[in-house]
Amino acid sequence: MVDAHLVDGKTTFSSFSHLLDARLLRALADMGFARPTLVQSKAIPLALESRDILARARTGSGKTAAYCVPVVQKVLTAKSSLDSEDSARQTTRALILVPTRELSEQVSSYLKGLCKYCEDIVAVANAAGSTSPHLQRTLLSDRPDIVIATPARALALLQSKALVVSHLESLVIDEADLVLSYGHDDDIRQIFSGAYLPKVYQSFLMSATMTEDVELLKGLTLRNPAILKLEDGED
Ligand code: ADP
Ligand code: MG
Repeated sequence: MVDAHLVDGKTTFSSFSHLLDARLLRALADMGFARPTLVQSKAIPLALESRDILARARTGSGKTAAYCVPVVQKVLTAKSSLDSEDSARQTTRALILVPTRELSEQVSSYLKGLCKYCEDIVAVANAAGSTSPHLQRTLLSDRPDIVIATPARALALLQSKALVVSHLESLVIDEADLVLSYGHDDDIRQIFSGAYLPKVYQSFLMSATMTEDVELLKGLTLRNPAILKLEDGED
């Protein structure tokens, strides 16, 4: 399924070795990701230039890695430039919003695989599952670098101040064409109301189709985005 989306059969992830940390490249190889799909090869370099990204590519085209790889790379880059005093100030740098708990689980386990060689540096928390006091404590005490949640759960955690995104660097809405139809309309509006997010951060909107909902989210979150609309068979 993925093969049809390969760039040219020759480009490998190691072609990005000037952009990506060796620990990420190793983890990608372990996962059997030898070559980037089209959406990955377009999105990753643009994202690492700090462009906002709107990517429309069909289901199965590899959109998860297209945003997870640059998000993790940005965390690694940011943390490697901290001096020891700064590094004590742990903060949530990326928030990934997904429409369902199932998808949150999948993205979280994908990210954990991707961070396998840098798990001491990049902390990932799936906040969409349980509302356990343990999760609340983890969010409060550890301020994980990357948090994945449904909009409803993210908003509840923001309101209770367990989740703080005032220093956020990346915000992703995955399955942007579905997220509003799952009843997250009001939650999304409140998250973007200006109460929680910093003025400047990088946004990613990932979608299988362009719908009115995606247009609406685009207006809410994206600034001069690189727009990647990938058709089947396009290269
Ligand atoms: P989408 O979100 O666009 O529907 P996914 O990110 O879920 O697509 O990826 C679809 C499938 O392809 C997953 O099983 C994933 O592990 C696999 N995949 C993604 N990128 C690659 C790659 N570069 N090489 C091999 N397999 C990949
Ligand atoms: Mg997907």
